[in-house]
Amino acid sequence: MKFTKPTGGDYGRSIFYILIFMVVITLGAVWLLPDLWVLWLLIVITGTGLLVAWHRGETVYRCPNCDHVYEISFWKDLIAPHGVDKEGAWLLLRCPNCGERKKTRVLKRVE
Ligand SMILES: [Zn+2]
Repeated sequence: MKFTKPTGGDYGRSIFYILIFMVVITLGAVWLLPDLWVLWLLIVITGTGLLVAWHRGETVYRCPNCDHVYEISFWKDLIAPHGVDKEGAWLLLRCPNCGERKKTRVLKRVE
């Protein structure tokens, strides 16, 4: 598996997609709520699914304890605690190799 450190452009692209999603949700709420709330909910679920699927396809994770590099499932990407600090983005993940639960750096997958 090939990977590299994410660049500023990668972070920018993620933020851009999330902003577009938030604008769509907000405009959708104005136009669709409360009468068409089912449609609005569908847009929210579909958008979240697309964002997470895209993020999952772009990223791999390296265990800070044993250096094992691995992918995570769609659901883990969605529900794992996320954060950003001065070294970049991280997720709180349990390593499938050594079993340690640690703040794990997000790496960019290279095809
Ligand atoms: Zn590990």
